[in-house]
Amino acid sequence: MFKYCPSCGSKNIVFERNKVFKCPDCGFSYYHNIAAATGCVIAAGDRIVLLVRGKEPCKGKLDLPGGFVDLGEGALEGLRREIREELGWTPPEEAEFTFFSSFANVYPYKNIVYNTCDLFFTLSAPGLSEKDLVLEEKEIAGAEFLRPDEIDLDRLAFDSTRRAVAAYRRYLKRP
Ligand SMILES: [Zn+2]
Repeated sequence: MFKYCPSCGSKNIVFERNKVFKCPDCGFSYYHNIAAATGCVIAAGDRIVLLVRGKEPCKGKLDLPGGFVDLGEGALEGLRREIREELGWTPPEEAEFTFFSSFANVYPYKNIVYNTCDLFFTLSAPGLSEKDLVLEEKEIAGAEFLRPDEIDLDRLAFDSTRRAVAAYRRYLKRP
């Protein structure tokens, strides 16, 4: 990612252990840590909300609502914000998000690969329908309400999304 040390300009900067940039000339070090991200299975009756991605990466593929957690946010604050932004819908204050799984993901964006730790939650929203949504125009091309067992995993955007939908199917079958 860095060809030159951002501190002294040296060409000798190295990337070690897949996580830290170090400059032997000035002592600069920078940890390229994973980012936290969230995804939410919003269950409207027996269907869940999938969004059609309107931009790269994976434009046109289906994704769960959610996204990167911003600086200063907890995972649920970030998730609530993403849901508001993407769906134009605000989950009720008393709505309970239930954690059900977490997977690593890789998110390439403009020549940089971001490695994320994705946290997946469920949220029950009975009665939610397409007419309650005002989709974020630049980012989202559409919404589909699908039964979990009818989702074609090949249409899903990311490895972590596929694993999350599979985990959610198992979660539904829990005793
Ligand atoms: Zn340096």
